[in-house]
Amino acid sequence: MKCKSNFKNGAWTFNFKAEPELGDGDFSNKVRFSRESFVIEMPKGFNPDDVHPDLYGLAVLLSVYPFVGKRIELDKAVSPVFANAFKKLSNKSISPIDEGIEVRKPPSHSVPGLAFSGGVDSTAALTLLPASTVAIFLERIIPEGVKTIYRKDAAKFSVEELRKAGRAVHSIRTDLEYLRDPVGFPVDVSNSVPAILLADHIGLDSIAFGTILESAYRVGHEKYVDYAVRSHYIRWGTLFEISGVPFNLVTSGISEVGTSKIVLESEFGYLAQSCMRGGVRNPCFNCWKCFRKLLLDRVLSGEPIPDDLLDKAFSIKEAKKFLSKDFIKHQNVIEFISSMYSGNHKGMRLLADKVCNNHNISMYKKWYSKSVKFIPAQYREHVTQKISRYLDIMSPKEEKAIEDYNLEEILSSDSYKTASDKFANYLLQ
Ligand SMILES: [Zn+2]
Repeated sequence: MKCKSNFKNGAWTFNFKAEPELGDGDFSNKVRFSRESFVIEMPKGFNPDDVHPDLYGLAVLLSVYPFVGKRIELDKAVSPVFANAFKKLSNKSISPIDEGIEVRKPPSHSVPGLAFSGGVDSTAALTLLPASTVAIFLERIIPEGVKTIYRKDAAKFSVEELRKAGRAVHSIRTDLEYLRDPVGFPVDVSNSVPAILLADHIGLDSIAFGTILESAYRVGHEKYVDYAVRSHYIRWGTLFEISGVPFNLVTSGISEVGTSKIVLESEFGYLAQSCMRGGVRNPCFNCWKCFRKLLLDRVLSGEPIPDDLLDKAFSIKEAKKFLSKDFIKHQNVIEFISSMYSGNHKGMRLLADKVCNNHNISMYKKWYSKSVKFIPAQYREHVTQKISRYLDIMSPKEEKAIEDYNLEEILSSDSYKTASDKFANYLLQ
């Protein structure tokens, strides 16, 4: 794979050429490399020559990594430290290399950046980070003639409100997500490409994400895994670190239950909207995210959930699809909601029979403080103090419950299957 870019009047175009080389191109049958270029619109005063070569290399990798067979060749040399690390971590190579390039050191007086989406988790992250944090929103450019249910109005409103509140925010337009089909981020942290390219322009010393406990530690999936040993962290965490923008994962020890609790109490909470299909402060109430959010907010605020609302929730097509699977995505969150529910709605009772497997659920409202290691040292104290304003810290017993999280046995038990079938039948009615 080859990459060349050109910069004209603020528009930075990245062109890729998949060589006739083994492995270049499609990632899988499901995710295909569908375009050979993308554009990103940089702010006034931005100079591409100021971008450290390793940041440039990192941004390119986050754009096409899954589609690179064995090697990628750029139009700019990267540092030997970056290239060697990439080779070791991926078994692919990046070139050219200039032995004279030193790794990037963030400038003095640098600040944290946040890959901001406008959703609940990244709004929780913004709440916990210092006020000097620069929020950077990747605004998807929708190509002409393309029809989509994706709506960015709520996120754009959020950006505007933060700006009015005196916060530093950038909204950077790009069609990067159209490099692949189906449309989306080639790597889950590709949403930070604007922040990476702006890191030297702004002076960033880290990049924060709204990564939560469920994504980092696989809680709510089948089994807990320490994020520090997961290949995602080892590969991308290391490359970000070498590029002078280490991960700043302030919410990685907080469950979706916890980020929702933070947002309910945060000054910016009214801006958070995870639904990408509704309008401003008007979620669609027809998607899986809306299903979880609506019920979660109710149980967290101690409000009863009326039966007619539940009827409506259980009729959401996308929610039915997720709920009727044997294993539900973010099952721990659904378990939390079901355990907190005290009414007699038939669907909710059947759901509770399926997912409430006597787990201790109190810890989902608390902070798993071992995750502090994913926050750069200079921000740990601030963030810890901020978190403790909203959440309790898990006890050693609760930490152990997190680390012992394992649904494998339960999922294969007969009683689980029976309960799962009963609930699936209910959804069919
Ligand atoms: Zn929605």
